[in-house]
Amino acid sequence: MSTFHIWTLGCQMNQADSLKLAAGLERLGYRAVEEDDAADVVVINTCSVRQHAEDRAYSRLGMLNKRRTEGAQQKIVVMGCMVGPKTDALRKRFPYVDVWARPQEFDGILSMAAEARDVSDGELGALLDGGGMRNTYGLPTGPTAYVPVIHGCDKFCTYCIVPLRRGREESRPAADILDEVRFLAGHGVREITLLGQTVEAYGHDLPDRPDLATLFEGIDAIDGIARVRFLTSYPKDMTDRIIDAVADQPKVCEYFNIPVQSGSDSMLERMRRGYTVAEFEERVERIRSRMPGAAIVTDVIVGCPGETDAEFQATVDLLNRIQFDTVHVAAYSPRPGTFASRNLADDVPMTVKKERLQVVEAIHRESSDRINRALLNRTVEVLVERNEEGRASGRTRRGQIVHFDTRGSVGELVDVTVSQVTAWSLQGHLAGDLTLAVL
Ligand code: SF4
Repeated sequence: MSTFHIWTLGCQMNQADSLKLAAGLERLGYRAVEEDDAADVVVINTCSVRQHAEDRAYSRLGMLNKRRTEGAQQKIVVMGCMVGPKTDALRKRFPYVDVWARPQEFDGILSMAAEARDVSDGELGALLDGGGMRNTYGLPTGPTAYVPVIHGCDKFCTYCIVPLRRGREESRPAADILDEVRFLAGHGVREITLLGQTVEAYGHDLPDRPDLATLFEGIDAIDGIARVRFLTSYPKDMTDRIIDAVADQPKVCEYFNIPVQSGSDSMLERMRRGYTVAEFEERVERIRSRMPGAAIVTDVIVGCPGETDAEFQATVDLLNRIQFDTVHVAAYSPRPGTFASRNLADDVPMTVKKERLQVVEAIHRESSDRINRALLNRTVEVLVERNEEGRASGRTRRGQIVHFDTRGSVGELVDVTVSQVTAWSLQGHLAGDLTLAVL
């Protein structure tokens, strides 16, 4: 039997694409293998958001080429965000790559794989279903699964490569999404995360203009699904209707991942984020007024072109005011092809970027530690995601990781009393079960 190996870099969207591609390859008679040296087809699903991720892909390609010069017969595929306008240069640099495929462009990979196994055109055509394997879904690997609902991004923030690589926003029909969720529920999935680069933009390009709230209602009626999450939010797209739906639909977790990126209006303008700090704070207030216990997570970029001490201080002030549950922070690095890389000087010295990173990380640790400490001796609902010999882990509705002892099975919802916390995770024991207390 032919074999494949997919190495996935980057975000949840890439993970979802890899699962879908794996499902397609399995339909063609291929089997997944853990090690790439045992695979007939090796796929690198790439990320371009940071140079570091691209460098990792280049180094893996070098290794695959070395193996090929030593006689290996593997087919090599590069897919994902590295494949775009720069592909001609990449083709010259890596002439041994067999297929280059942009995000969600599965057809070329599957055609190559079908040819290698003499799969008939009819079988291949049925799988591709008019392009993109519309009705082929990746088998879940546990009780949680990602479901892309909108691809691409129309926002064009000046520093960001995503719209150039993933294209314009394109929503999937609601019926297809609900079919996929039913399929996943039928294979044991309890928690669904709806994905989009700007997930609240979902539906604006569809004829009947459904939105995330429409999807929440549809999923509410699907047996087996206990929780719904959604990623990543864009403040300007987050309507009152969506916030209200999160508050009112019991399956939807009160968890918001809303990147603010900067706490300075002038910096936000240079980033072309499309909102002011006051508008962002108004959205947070609206969420907290409807759901006082909601978890709010954000992303911040430090050291963007021209970021002054005062602009950075405005970010620090915002973080202190809002007290996010988690702050993901990154230092700016120019991505070739973006507006910022062409027009704005990368003029904040690396030493300053590093200092600013440390300041934001310290604020994050402090606020997340304080939020987690408030849970000591309280009971939280956890979805068991792993259980190895009674030592289990899972997440709360607010997204915190919990480690605990349980006889419960993967996929079960259990109540856990928290007995120890750090800024990163919680530990505890099943509520009412003192014989299993960890501490
Ligand atoms: S909203 Fe901005 S940062 Fe997010 S994917 Fe779109 S362009 Fe990139």
